[in-house]
Amino acid sequence: MGRAALAVLLSTCLATPAAAQLVPALNSRPEATAKVDTIPPARDIAYPGTIQLTVDASDVTRAIFRIHEHVPVPHPGDFVLLYPKWLPGNHSPSGQINKVAGFRATANGRDLKWVRDTLDVYAFHVDVPQGVTAIDVDFQYVSPTAGNQGRIVATPDMASIEWIANSLYPAGYYVRDIPIQASVIVPAGWRVATALRPSGQIGNKIDYPVTSYEILMDSPLIAGAHYRRFELSPKVALDVIADNEPELAAKPEQIDAHKRMVDQALKVFGAQHYDHYDFLLTISDYLGGEGLEHHRSSEDGVKRGYFIDWDHHLTDRSSLMPHEYTHSWDGKYRRAADLWTPDYRTPMQDTLMWMYEGQTQFWGYVLAARSGMLTKQDTLDAIASTAATYGPGTPGRVWRPLEDTTNDPIIAQRSPQPWRSWQRSEDYYSEGQLIWIDVDRIIRQQSGGKKSIDDFARAFFGMRDGDYGELTYTFDDIVATLNKVLPSFDWRGYLQRRVYAIAPEAPLEGITQGGYRLVFTDKPSNWTKVSEMVRKTGEFTYSGGFTVGHDGKVSSVLWDSPAFNAGITIGSEVLAVNGRKYDMDAIKQAIKDAAGSGPAPELLIQDGDVYRTVKLDWHGGLRYPHLEKVGKGEGTLDALLAPR
Ligand SMILES: [Zn+2]
Repeated sequence: MGRAALAVLLSTCLATPAAAQLVPALNSRPEATAKVDTIPPARDIAYPGTIQLTVDASDVTRAIFRIHEHVPVPHPGDFVLLYPKWLPGNHSPSGQINKVAGFRATANGRDLKWVRDTLDVYAFHVDVPQGVTAIDVDFQYVSPTAGNQGRIVATPDMASIEWIANSLYPAGYYVRDIPIQASVIVPAGWRVATALRPSGQIGNKIDYPVTSYEILMDSPLIAGAHYRRFELSPKVALDVIADNEPELAAKPEQIDAHKRMVDQALKVFGAQHYDHYDFLLTISDYLGGEGLEHHRSSEDGVKRGYFIDWDHHLTDRSSLMPHEYTHSWDGKYRRAADLWTPDYRTPMQDTLMWMYEGQTQFWGYVLAARSGMLTKQDTLDAIASTAATYGPGTPGRVWRPLEDTTNDPIIAQRSPQPWRSWQRSEDYYSEGQLIWIDVDRIIRQQSGGKKSIDDFARAFFGMRDGDYGELTYTFDDIVATLNKVLPSFDWRGYLQRRVYAIAPEAPLEGITQGGYRLVFTDKPSNWTKVSEMVRKTGEFTYSGGFTVGHDGKVSSVLWDSPAFNAGITIGSEVLAVNGRKYDMDAIKQAIKDAAGSGPAPELLIQDGDVYRTVKLDWHGGLRYPHLEKVGKGEGTLDALLAPR
């Protein structure tokens, strides 16, 4: 080695001293290879030809959906078919590609070579030979056969048939530019409900007219043996499929409440962004629950008893159909510009979910109260519960701004979390609701009662009657519309503070300056009682900091609470209370007895094969949230909940 070579070596070593010292010199050091995306990006051009799609949904015994597609191809060579990945309404990449099986592509009866894209496993590259103008594609959507695989979508009595889980589409086009003619095959004797109107039926095969791939994906079906349809308005219907005939027995006054809910929504929003609208309600103990919005329909899945055990389905009545219906305006028609995508491969951004879901959550409860779907007292109790959850029940407010929780559909995809109150979750729904209650309070107070959030809704959602495309918006558009309704207020600053900044205090002014205050008493509200009953759980979030099932399994622990300090976690099982076998009455009594200077409850806890006796150091007794009226006369919250 000469001097010059040594100098070069030294300078090389000196230039990257850190890299040279971090790993042993002997270690191999690969270079990154370039990642090349070979999937054509979506373009706003007409797709040449019409796809024919047939979904055979008749094998409900095995819950296997058999799909056939006849796909015109524009050119020979590499042709890419995509399975929908980013699902509207889920706000996340939750398409179940793991349940696509049996993929086969043929042309004129001969198998074609295909390979999956390894950078995007939702994409199939098919090698199209010269002279071939259309290919045939077959695959199965092997839907979940047990709850731990995902939502059950087929039972012996009904099926939830979502085209978006049962089709592939060509890459390179806006989905609104792809023509498709779809057909479905259901078990003999079943009825089908959907926003689509059939063009024909032979036996159990129903054909639908040519539409765009986007509209088809937005128009799922429910099908089943037990079916009833109720007209709610000239353009809106409630289609019900149930496990059995008795579950269809809606009382006239129950249907009237749904009619009033539709009527109250139209009074708020004005224009309708559909030609007709179908609530697709499934009532089943076996089909997975659902609440999924579409422009011209919604998938509303509840457990048995919706009509025949009306008193115990409070949440279904407030946060399901009034919520999903509101989405036809808020979310489907008016959609955040960064959320809107031309296909289901482009990532969605959820930054304005506090508008999309937050204001929808708000209107869901308001419409439920205004229509009588929920009594005013139950609505107030529900708001009390929300106020408590996002106030003292969310210590994670000190580190995480509400805006950051809009990433949660992508971060967590609704997987169970150990410390929800600290991690926070999709809080933009219900904390969003509290913010919009306060926005209404501000508008009412500062306009001297002349205006309300109804004026905002009419201005933001009520244009272009009959348009069921998407009209996008930005943060600035929300601020501009609020400024139009009430110019004297700093809306930009308000939303920055409430949504984007860290806000340790919950936004409760809509309540506390709207005629009520949040109080805790030792008696649960009807709302809390029903929710405890439905969840088979005791609610002690504000009485020691935990919830626990009738079976003794702990289902939540409030961060930094007495339960937290006692080392109780989700997954712990309570076996005994004060030396006696655990049951719900025993734990309630022990918490009551500990009030003031009573003895702290002793809980025998099992975690794995370890048994521990812990003391729950809580002496505040049983505490449940309520809203208490302040002063006389009507507050802004009363005015908000009154029917129009
Ligand atoms: Zn929603």
